[in-house]
Amino acid sequence: MIDEDICMVEMTKFFLTFTQAESCGKCIPCRWGTKQMLDILEDITSGKGRPGDIELLEELAESVKDNSLCGLGQTAPNPVLTSIRYFRDEYEAHINEKRCPALACIELTSYHILPDKCQGCGICLRECPTDAISGGKRMVHVIDQSRCIKCGTCLDVCPPRFGAVVKVSGEEVTVPGEPVPVAAIKASAVASSGSSSNE
Ligand code: SF4
Ligand code: SF4
Ligand code: SF4
Repeated sequence: MIDEDICMVEMTKFFLTFTQAESCGKCIPCRWGTKQMLDILEDITSGKGRPGDIELLEELAESVKDNSLCGLGQTAPNPVLTSIRYFRDEYEAHINEKRCPALACIELTSYHILPDKCQGCGICLRECPTDAISGGKRMVHVIDQSRCIKCGTCLDVCPPRFGAVVKVSGEEVTVPGEPVPVAAIKASAVASSGSSSNE
């Protein structure tokens, strides 16, 4: 079943990887065209998509369909054409906004700890496999993006009552550069709500 957690660009890449591996290589359109399409899809899902990639994919797909000798090459481009037809907006989000709407393309996603939600319990810090999280008791924890391998463990282990870890794509999340006391974040929230209610 296709739901919103499935990235159609990623799925198309998966199908094409399979048919590309099956290509016997006898005719150039199939051998070369499927490889070209796969390279473009790889770029798009890793945040290196460029304007014009969708049109290029369509051109290549039609050419492979029309010029391949057997059924494999003639049908291999179908997932590309169908997904572009029905999910063009997903392609555009990947290429133009560097955003994967399904949060599935690992290179287009990131994890962050929300300072106003973190209670400094330390669970995520203990469970992170790469020591990417720093913090201390009752300190707002912080993720070092350069060490994060995007395994998602912090999101899984942060207690639901805190819900302090978010996974995003194509969004800026404002977080402190280093751990700060939870009390300081709360005090500043109170101060700013007081000053806005006085306005
Ligand atoms: S279209 Fe068929 S014959 Fe041609 S390279 Fe692909 S698999 Fe081989
Ligand atoms: S996603 Fe994984 S590696 Fe990254 S901070 Fe969370 S637990 Fe650590
Ligand atoms: S992000 Fe969640 S698990 Fe990690 S310290 Fe904050 S509240 Fe605890």
